[in-house]
Amino acid sequence: MEFATFADRAGAIDAESADLEIVDHVRALLEDVGENGAAAGSDGEATDAGPEAIEIVARFVQGRVFPAWDSTTLDVGPSACYEAIARAAGTNVSAADVEERLAETGEIGAVAASYDFGGQQGLAAFTAGDDAEALTVREVYETLETLAYTDGSGSQGRKVDLLFGLFNRCSSEEARYLARLVLAEMRIGVGEGTVRDAIAAAFDVPADQVERALQVTNDYGQVARIARDDGLEGLEEVDLAVGRPVQAMLAQAGTVTDALEEWDDAAVERKYDGARIQLHHDPASSDDSGSETRVFSRNMEDVTAALPEVVEFAEGTLESPVILDGEVVAIDDGGDPLPFQEVLRRFRRKHDVAKAREDVAVRPVFFDCLHHDGEDLLECPLRDRHERLESVLTAGSEPDVDPEDVEGLSLLWLTDDADEIEAIDADALAAGHEGIMLKNPESTYSPGRRGKHWRKRKPDVETLDCVVTGAEWGEGRRATFLGTFELSVRDGDALETVGKVATGITDEQLAELTELLEPHIVTAEGTTVDVEPAVVFEVGYEEIQRSPTYSSGYALRFPRFVGVRSDKSPADADTLERLERLHGA
Ligand code: ATP
Repeated sequence: MEFATFADRAGAIDAESADLEIVDHVRALLEDVGENGAAAGSDGEATDAGPEAIEIVARFVQGRVFPAWDSTTLDVGPSACYEAIARAAGTNVSAADVEERLAETGEIGAVAASYDFGGQQGLAAFTAGDDAEALTVREVYETLETLAYTDGSGSQGRKVDLLFGLFNRCSSEEARYLARLVLAEMRIGVGEGTVRDAIAAAFDVPADQVERALQVTNDYGQVARIARDDGLEGLEEVDLAVGRPVQAMLAQAGTVTDALEEWDDAAVERKYDGARIQLHHDPASSDDSGSETRVFSRNMEDVTAALPEVVEFAEGTLESPVILDGEVVAIDDGGDPLPFQEVLRRFRRKHDVAKAREDVAVRPVFFDCLHHDGEDLLECPLRDRHERLESVLTAGSEPDVDPEDVEGLSLLWLTDDADEIEAIDADALAAGHEGIMLKNPESTYSPGRRGKHWRKRKPDVETLDCVVTGAEWGEGRRATFLGTFELSVRDGDALETVGKVATGITDEQLAELTELLEPHIVTAEGTTVDVEPAVVFEVGYEEIQRSPTYSSGYALRFPRFVGVRSDKSPADADTLERLERLHGA
């Protein structure tokens, strides 16, 4: 498919506000790629080297270049993109001009579309494909893939060259959507549900089967291709794959009384105060780096390199291919759990891991088994999955080992006795855990769902995870630090303010927060700055009040900084809906 066709459809979607119409546009787009793909040969057929056009289009339309499970990023800053646009726009345009137009319009797509591109000869060597031929979605994908894997010294310059090569072949409309794609700002109103419904409509398959396949693969492209080529049967056969992360099942807040009323008995587990991990281990296959183990975060980011203890645990304990769900917890010298903030010092670390490991040790605890030895267990009841988990973790141990002594196993108690649950809760808190989880023993594993089958019971008042959208520089001694932070919650695609937090933060933390937020400052007026959504704060509060001061219509009373949720992205922050619920509760 030509990129111009994609851009044209994206434009039509962009101009549409009705959800059903948007689904219909995406459906037509997917059908078109299908047909063109079959007819157009090289642009449509899968090659060993890459995905089919339909896979690329199903991702591009959501503003993604790579599948959702793949944490590869383009690693290209806005300035590199401005530079490439400027170069392709002609000799009399500079990156500063591009930025100036951006300040006026506020949107990179509109800026890119405001130039005439093409024909910048000098750097033809960097131009993808044949200049005279129309740009295809495949060429765009392949160039962006090359760009993503370009690293080392001089890589930013090389990335600019690659982008220039693309923009240099774009029409204004193509440039609009290319710029948005590159800067991850597609924003044409196509969410995950839209693509799901469009795939179902385009290839006449049930939406719930598409949904299931998406949960298992986390790849809209692959699911679109399977739906087109193999229909319902193909979707039903989609399996988990060791090495490809699945979305984590999530929990709701809940009470013991409700759990015992709804279920005959409850599965009670300790709630570990760490960061969620998903372990993929296959002793028989090692990837390019020779590793048999991959560890993913709750956002499906590959965090293997940061957590060598987890890899060592897997390699020393596991004997068959598995996918395990669990938590990584920081521990002190005696092996007792440390608070959540400590684990974050290790979680995403890319450098000096060995040194960080000396400062804070971590250990994994697993509470679920999603796949074992070729068998997917998502549809099995929790009680069976937990038994399987135990057998996986004890494969190399003495027979009849006491579950208490199984390293890496989260214990599970089945009970209908509220007093027993209270006692487990008290023990868990005394041992330094966060409290308990209550789960329905008969429930299946629903990836990505915050269902009622998992309930968390926490002893402390609720906290909110808010996106930082602004800040103010401090005064006097604190003038070089950001000191007050504007907090927002999600409302659909928008962010709405709920208050400002300035308390609960030490000087040392202020320095760290300033370093963290400064690169995200977009505009400044006096001492007040606007910050692009990138950082999530966990904040406590005494009360939620209605208030005209903030755009959400609510204000947090006495907000208190609890910590940075570096394991969460703005898309995982709390919603206005939750705020409203908490206000009404
Ligand atoms: P969210 O509510 O968005 O999941 P959160 O990260 O604040 O956010 P909680 O809701 O408080 O987490 O609790 C759910 C999390 O608790 C899980 O995602 C997991 O990381 C952690 N956890 C600890 N112990 C368990 C357990 N035994 N079973 C399931 N989850 C557990």
